Amino acid sequence: MRNPKWTRDELILALELYFRCKPSKINKEHPEVVRLSKLLNSLPIHPQKEKYEKFRNPNGVYMKLCNFLRCDPTYHGKGLRAGSKLEEKIWSEFAADREKLQKIATAIKECASIVPRPIEGDIPEYEEFEEGKILTRLHKIRERSTSAVKKKKEVVLRRKGRLLCEACGFDFEKKYGNIGKGFAECHHIKPLSDLRPNQKTKLRDLSILCSNCHRMIHRTKPMLSLSEFRKILR
Ligand SMILES: [Zn+2]
Ligand SMILES: [Zn+2]
Repeated sequence: MRNPKWTRDELILALELYFRCKPSKINKEHPEVVRLSKLLNSLPIHPQKEKYEKFRNPNGVYMKLCNFLRCDPTYHGKGLRAGSKLEEKIWSEFAADREKLQKIATAIKECASIVPRPIEGDIPEYEEFEEGKILTRLHKIRERSTSAVKKKKEVVLRRKGRLLCEACGFDFEKKYGNIGKGFAECHHIKPLSDLRPNQKTKLRDLSILCSNCHRMIHRTKPMLSLSEFRKILR
């Protein structure tokens, strides 16, 4: 029985600890290692039935920290070759920007407890932002907030008379007639690392997008702002 592979969220948290507590200076009994082990066991990422006895235990967490040593040019100790491609990817994305790493790790830790476990088939893997599953899921929850979306559309309709995609100008009503009336998607524009548990979705956090633009902006890594995304369309 094998435990599931480490995901992006988990590796981000491990890398954040790596920079605070270099594995060459600590061991698996270190309180921070034990704390991360507990946190990883509580994350809403892996289904309970896929977790086995030693799932993310302190020993496994400590070994994961050691895996990052091979990516670290400042480490000159004995070679540790084992490791995954995703570890290398996470290292290359975040090691040079520790502030960003810290911000995302904090957001993941704070939001983990309010994000429900995934519903099968809900978010295809390719739509996961670089900030990982938990923050991607929270982004989806926020932009699907029925009351905020309803209010946003009402306000835009009152002001502009139409629900035009803020990126490409697509108008569902114009294209599809009555079927498209009142239809548009809302995208939450706040950076994922700024998401926190008790924020209410404000109207200015949402922008109107057509379904194509919304799917495409969700494929950008890191998530582009609307104005950056518009530049690509031009
Ligand atoms: Zn569009
Ligand atoms: Zn979105």
